[in-house]
Amino acid sequence: MSDCLFCKIAGGEIPSNKVYEDELCYAFYDIAPQAPTHFLVIPKAHISSVSAVTPENSAVVAHIFEVIAKLTKDLGLESYRVVSNIGEQAGQTVFHLHFHVLSGRDMTWPPG
Ligand code: AMP
Ligand code: ZN
Repeated sequence: MSDCLFCKIAGGEIPSNKVYEDELCYAFYDIAPQAPTHFLVIPKAHISSVSAVTPENSAVVAHIFEVIAKLTKDLGLESYRVVSNIGEQAGQTVFHLHFHVLSGRDMTWPPG
């Protein structure tokens, strides 16, 4: 999608602090970290949010969770939270599917 911030980051048009990349997904540190470790994992193909996941495009979601399991092991993160905000009321500000991975501090439940 031409006017999407995360499509541009995944395509290398906008710089980011890369954690990991493969043919299907891209992971990079959040510009405004909410925990000592905070990175985002996104599909390279544009999907606007969890609400737009379908049988046709859902394989990348399983792949992203495999990547999260591997990256957190590699980074030595034993406890972490994976979050995806869907819609403005839930706090979504970038309308390209992304999973926040947050770690390194105590977290409360329920989230605010
Ligand atoms: P959300 O608010 O759930 O849609 O998450 C979007 C996230 O993207 C926020 O945590 C932002 O801090 C982060 N963000 C926005 N622009 C950039 C950027 N250029 N590089 C890295 N992270 C970004
Ligand atoms: Zn996009």
